Amino acid sequence: NHVDAGWRFDHSYARLPEKFFTLMEPNPVQEPKQMLFNDALAHELGLNAEALKGSSGTAIFAGNEMPRGAMPLAQAYAGHQFGNFTMLGDGRAMLIGEQLTPKDERVDIQLKGSGRTPYSRGGDGRAALGPMLREYIISEAMHALRIPTTRSLAVVTTGEGIMRETVLPGAILTRVAKSHLRVGTFEFAINWGTDEDLQKLADYAIERHYPEANDADNCYLALLEKVIERQASLIAKWQLVGFIHGVMNTDNMTISGETIDYGPCAFMDTYHPATVFSSIDRRGRYAYQNQPPIGGWNLARFAESLIPILHDDEAEAIRIAQDAISNYPQLYENHWLSGMRKKLGLLNEETNDESLINQLLDLMEKYEADYTNTFLALTFNQLCDAKIFETDEFKHWHDAWQERITLETQSEEDRYQLMKKHNPAIIPRNYYVEKAIEAAVEQEDFSVVKQLLDALADPYAHTSAQHAFATVPDFEEPYQTFCGT
Ligand code: AMP
Ligand code: MG
Ligand code: MG
Repeated sequence: NHVDAGWRFDHSYARLPEKFFTLMEPNPVQEPKQMLFNDALAHELGLNAEALKGSSGTAIFAGNEMPRGAMPLAQAYAGHQFGNFTMLGDGRAMLIGEQLTPKDERVDIQLKGSGRTPYSRGGDGRAALGPMLREYIISEAMHALRIPTTRSLAVVTTGEGIMRETVLPGAILTRVAKSHLRVGTFEFAINWGTDEDLQKLADYAIERHYPEANDADNCYLALLEKVIERQASLIAKWQLVGFIHGVMNTDNMTISGETIDYGPCAFMDTYHPATVFSSIDRRGRYAYQNQPPIGGWNLARFAESLIPILHDDEAEAIRIAQDAISNYPQLYENHWLSGMRKKLGLLNEETNDESLINQLLDLMEKYEADYTNTFLALTFNQLCDAKIFETDEFKHWHDAWQERITLETQSEEDRYQLMKKHNPAIIPRNYYVEKAIEAAVEQEDFSVVKQLLDALADPYAHTSAQHAFATVPDFEEPYQTFCGT
């Protein structure tokens, strides 16, 4: 019984002009099995977990049956992929509806891996189990790290093999997002829509994410500024935990400010600014250190898409857009610096803080220190088990840090609590993520994934169970991630 499951759908996106989507049903799969279900998230959404864990829920998450009130559709969008502009769209995903939560928030419920759509081009519209588990684990870890992100409600296997380099088990992920509006949705509008279409999209984005922009003299400028602010804050949060997105194409940058598209992403273990994990990112366009400037580049594409509605006079519109974009580096820097101060237990602002932080990062790079564990060692004052801590350079830095701390007004206990709150005990390290996925894909053993999810659920709790995931054996080969599977 679908009513019991708690679905409360609306379809505001489907009220946009038709060119923004294609109404269609997901393609059914042979033998769906529900492997993961997110009870906590279901509760937040006002969904009945017990009802959805049964066969009717499985049928829904597989796309074999639609709940009453669903209106499945594939969204159109475009984007710059590694700098090249192209038409895209949901090639393997379908929005089934917008769930209205008990708090009256509106979230997209999307099936990822649900079959071919008019936007699939050559692709099969399907997804493999491994990458869907990876998205589930890392998106939920990001949420627990207090970083805005799409969420994962369920994973079902399809009982069908999909053809990649080898045959892989197919799966569908149920993704939950504040919306799937992307910079690429606006690029689609300006390239394939009229000015009226573009304006309708912008009005819709304002209504859904930034209703306060309607109070501004120029609501589209306000929209631009708010997206810039959210992305500056988001990307700073990525940098602070060592998250590397891996494929920061403009179609993978949301208007809501949530992290989206967990394909080739990974967390950095050893600190190195040039770290790249993605096998297809040969030139390191999306390397760790490039994420902040690439964010600015993507936002400039967003600003360009708004030109026709920013001002009647095009030259004036361009000036307005450039002005807004020029604020991004400083906004980013402010978020990053304030986050870094907290990681070092600093509340006051002193002029030399930035150089103190950069000196530490330089030493971490030079002595190949683990990014997360170095901050943990500073938090708990356990400066051992790493080359960096044995060096005079570090001792010198540590003296400077202690000296800086004397300028703080907070108590030592408060500083300790501040550091604990901003230095996670655990991140989803590639080694453990891969081991968990391997057990699930090769042995159909999902207990390892569940154990890892448990450990990741509260990274600031600093429990002993989390220590087990703090270090990894040395790899012989550099770690690589793959997308498109
Ligand atoms: P991504 O790199 O994940 O952002 O995906 C880029 C584009 O490729 C999006 O339009 C996807 O919908 C599409 N795509 C990815 N995988 C497939 C697939 N297996 N079949 C069809 N389209 C796909
Ligand atoms: Mg994408
Ligand atoms: Mg992807």
